[in-house]
Amino acid sequence: MKTKESNSFMGKPIIRINVVIKLMGCTCNLECDYCSYVAKKNSSKDGCQKMSYETLEATIKEFINAQNSEKITFSWQCKEPDILGIDFFKKIIELQKKYTPGYSVCENLLQMNGTLIDEKWCKFLKENNFRVEIGIDGPSLLHNKYHKDNEGKGTFDEIIKAIELLKKYKVQFNSRTCINCDTTKYPLEVYRFLRDRISADSIELIPIVEVKKLKNIFPLFWKEKDFIYYDSEESDPNNKNSILNHWSVKSEEYGDFLIAIFDEWYKEDLGKIFVPIFESAIRQWMGGDSSLCSLSLTCGKTISIEYNGDVHCCDQCINPEYKLGNIKVDSLINMVLSEKQHRFKNSKCAMLSKYCNECKWLRACNGGCLKNRILKIKDSDLGINYLCKGLKKYFEHIDPYISDIVEKMGREVDIINPNWKG
Ligand code: SF4
Ligand code: SF4
Ligand code: SF4
Repeated sequence: MKTKESNSFMGKPIIRINVVIKLMGCTCNLECDYCSYVAKKNSSKDGCQKMSYETLEATIKEFINAQNSEKITFSWQCKEPDILGIDFFKKIIELQKKYTPGYSVCENLLQMNGTLIDEKWCKFLKENNFRVEIGIDGPSLLHNKYHKDNEGKGTFDEIIKAIELLKKYKVQFNSRTCINCDTTKYPLEVYRFLRDRISADSIELIPIVEVKKLKNIFPLFWKEKDFIYYDSEESDPNNKNSILNHWSVKSEEYGDFLIAIFDEWYKEDLGKIFVPIFESAIRQWMGGDSSLCSLSLTCGKTISIEYNGDVHCCDQCINPEYKLGNIKVDSLINMVLSEKQHRFKNSKCAMLSKYCNECKWLRACNGGCLKNRILKIKDSDLGINYLCKGLKKYFEHIDPYISDIVEKMGREVDIINPNWKG
């Protein structure tokens, strides 16, 4: 049961800020197919860099000073921590101790590929109470197809080895699974693998939607002609004329994939296995906002800090148009509260197509992520979510079940796993 939270801490209003801090530029030990960094590597002049100690200190100091909260959560994205070295992470702990007031505690969430994790790392992560998020796309055949090292060898075995070690050291970890054109064919195999073989504390499912051309231009800046018609051959990743990379998930298959997993979860794992997209539906059906940014009412709940200190409106929006400033010279709280960020937050709702505004599932979908709004119904109605068809099918299917859960739960409990704060 969730107790009602107070709005103040130490006599002042609670301020919590969500950021993802990217410790490296394009540097990575792997070469996965659907990696935005690999694409960036070719276009970036100053890529392949690591965060300096100077930027790290400015980031930690600013992030802590901007908040007033009992818990301060750092979310680090680092590809593979061993590239930075363990001393870098010891420095993180040292700086957090230096700048955290005695009445607050820091917690750390680390996103990584896990291929270089060994006993020394697990010991460090456990001792310093890090939570870890590891990307794994399911059983070996599915995972290895798109996740390879720089010699073209699949990375599944290394990741499993890392997961076993994390378990041995009792490091809390979540899995992050990309849903591509292949994974959708094996929903239950993927789900059972993550639930039974991996036993992750939380199972995150991320649809891959990757546009070939215009990749570095955000759809909000596309010209009318660049948007593709709903159900056209250009919107089908299997078609040679498609503007999407062939590994992108097919919209309707994404819906079927979620439905198959939902049915198993509902029958066997409700209240036991934490799947953020299902938890999000429960929240929304109870009248709250989604915990997933793609389905929530506004954008920009989590801003992003790049390795060089540049701060952007969100993790996906790193075009210059979305830059808010730099952590070394600008105040984080001023950037978060800036007019630019305010406009960005509202753009999700303000840029809704007529088609979405009339949709029965608008409250559950909110038009989807701005990055995926690449479809049009007609030339005058642009920016419809590529995943629309699949999501409609999924919402339609889960509606009676989620309504039933909500009725049984009442309004006092709003999350299934209170330990997960993703
Ligand atoms: S591990 Fe992550 S950053 Fe590295 S290549 Fe794969 S997707 Fe890209
Ligand atoms: S389900 Fe489709 S039409 Fe409805 S809000 Fe989402 S994208 Fe728009
Ligand atoms: S653009 Fe997409 S990733 Fe960025 S805040 Fe909006 S929904 Fe989230």
